[in-house]
Amino acid sequence: MPVASPVLFDNHGRPLEYLRLAVTDRCNLRCFYCMPAEGIEYVPKQELLSYEEMERLVTLLAGLGVRKVRLTGGEPFVRRDLVPFMERLARIPGIDDLSLTTNGVLTAPYVPALKQLGVKAVNLSLDTLDRTRFARITRRDELPRVLDTLYALLEAGITVKINAVVMGGQNIEDLVPLAGLTRELPVDVRFIEEMPFNGGSHAPTLPWNHVRIREHLQAHFPGLMPTAAAPGDTASHYTIPGHAGSIGIIAAFSRTFCGTCNRIRLTAEGGLKTCLYDQGVLDVRALLRGGASDEVVVEALKSAFRHRAADGFEAERQRPVHQLSFESMSTIGG
Ligand code: SAM
Ligand code: SF4
Repeated sequence: MPVASPVLFDNHGRPLEYLRLAVTDRCNLRCFYCMPAEGIEYVPKQELLSYEEMERLVTLLAGLGVRKVRLTGGEPFVRRDLVPFMERLARIPGIDDLSLTTNGVLTAPYVPALKQLGVKAVNLSLDTLDRTRFARITRRDELPRVLDTLYALLEAGITVKINAVVMGGQNIEDLVPLAGLTRELPVDVRFIEEMPFNGGSHAPTLPWNHVRIREHLQAHFPGLMPTAAAPGDTASHYTIPGHAGSIGIIAAFSRTFCGTCNRIRLTAEGGLKTCLYDQGVLDVRALLRGGASDEVVVEALKSAFRHRAADGFEAERQRPVHQLSFESMSTIGG
């Protein structure tokens, strides 16, 4: 039987179990809430972590207790040879949960490979079922290909979580149709508060917080019932009687879930974030490229994890650059 790695706890008693790894900052969409229309300034290719560097880091983190890795970006499938890289990650001892977050534009043809790799769940970003609004929000007319991915994933028996960012003036009329998908489909539709990490696209405000989202859904689905969340989960969960799927609401800007957060993030250029709201607490790429031994890298990772902010508000206060919209979610990885 494989021996489980000892779990590392942070300075607030939270376990380190979950890595979100941004494999690129490049993207084929230009979502309004993530970046400006002209896109963000991509980091030069040589400044992105190589697959070899990422594999080494994941191996070291697995030794510290990380068992779950989610690939994100940018759009993971715009990076060449993603599937062979995933095959390498899947073989790392201790990693027992490999998943990804995708916009679904390029994903459908890779679904059989994901299935073969043992990927059990995929998060698919989908903010509207209306083609015109999809094109307005993402600035690309790609809804049909995203829906192809949704159905290909379901047909392959891969669990789908749909991520929908809730934006006043953009997709409020879509909340009920998106929630309505759960009637027939076994999907978890998760509504996410809009965060201000949009690369300067627009000024951050939060007209639709988690409470307003829930009340809006409850007005249309009076049977909406709260259910228990798994440890470390960021979503509040709900079911609707008679529906095959479920609903989640993620208070990403209100930050109600920090007390159980078990995740760290690596940006595409190798910055370690121990909180979504910090500005990067360790330059891992500099360590790797400076020739640091595994022991030195592990000590640096441990130290960063043991100096974690208590919550997203503390992490935000500690940022050298306070303006959150200075960053794009495409660089952070979501
Ligand atoms: N490109 C992939 C995708 O869109 O699924 C993966 C990267 S994307 C940055 C990861 C997640 O972050 C997506 O579900 C996206 O909707 C979410 N996201 C991006 N910008 C956001 C923002 N400003 N507020 C809330 N969620 C955001
Ligand atoms: Fe690309 Fe995802 Fe950002 Fe949309 S949310 S622009 S798909 S990285």
